Amino acid sequence: MKGAVLYGPRDVRFEERPAPKITAPTDAIIRISATCVCGSDLWPYRGANKVEQPTPMGHEYCGIVEEVGSAVRSVRPGQFVIGSFFASDNSCPNCQIGYQSSCQHREFVGTAQAPVLRVPLADGTLVKTSDIPTNDLVPSLLALSDVMGTGWFAADAANVKPGSTVVVVGDGAVGLLGVLSAQQMGAERIIAMSRHDSRQKLATEFGATDIVTQRGEEGVARIKDLTDGVGADSVLECVGTRESMMQAIQSTRRGGYMSYVGVPHGVELQGEQLFYTHIHLHGGPAPVRRFLPELIERVYGGKINPGKVFDLELPLDQVAEGYRAMDERRAIKTLLRPS
Ligand SMILES: [Zn+2]
Repeated sequence: MKGAVLYGPRDVRFEERPAPKITAPTDAIIRISATCVCGSDLWPYRGANKVEQPTPMGHEYCGIVEEVGSAVRSVRPGQFVIGSFFASDNSCPNCQIGYQSSCQHREFVGTAQAPVLRVPLADGTLVKTSDIPTNDLVPSLLALSDVMGTGWFAADAANVKPGSTVVVVGDGAVGLLGVLSAQQMGAERIIAMSRHDSRQKLATEFGATDIVTQRGEEGVARIKDLTDGVGADSVLECVGTRESMMQAIQSTRRGGYMSYVGVPHGVELQGEQLFYTHIHLHGGPAPVRRFLPELIERVYGGKINPGKVFDLELPLDQVAEGYRAMDERRAIKTLLRPS
């Protein structure tokens, strides 16, 4: 089997890897229908995280179950399933309150840019669809595996409610789907911070009512202008840099809610500065598993089409070009199909 392996900065290779096998009775093996490149894959790709050894890549996946271990009860071969980047038992105390990405038995699923994938804790991790989806639904179902689930968590954690005023910081795939999530949750006003034409267009299509192109202090000032000097009820931080965190904190109204779902890189917050903001902060790796059943229903019901964030589709063997296109911002997000 051939899959994607990262060797170092800007060096992704499509090369022979051992085909996964059942190693625990709770495992499932799935044949990947589609996978993709994540914004967070770009951190090690760009050298921001050190790559110590050749590392298989990919943590977003959906596909057909090929084989299950002897203890697996909830899925069987032939079913179409979606899972997320942390396998979880869906039964421990953390899972029970909806934080499956903090499962006491979580395992990272990180080898999905390949034709076949082993998923641990299959019963707790995989959610099956009602039937085998048509090809045109696959991109949207794949998006649920991470970006849409993360965008939804961002909106949920920022307490978006009908009538809310929402700011989304970050116009990557997660930010854009944060806009869509806020729209689905009934936000009245959704301000997307973006400088790029194609992304502004998609944000508007997903429900953004205003676009702010300024960043930093200027961006915050613009948000204050648009909200009568108050700030937004809910702010979604979908980048993970110090600048984007500060921009998000300062755009939130007193008593408001800010969520952060971008993996932090170099973010340090001052206690005293936070103390006087009076805002609620909630974030972390999205517990995508909590939202999968509902989001699958929304995709099947035609309410959301998050697959629109994939503006480049390539065969899996061209995975290196998929990374390059995202690195150079020629693509928002690359979908990969094994041939
Ligand atoms: Zn658990």
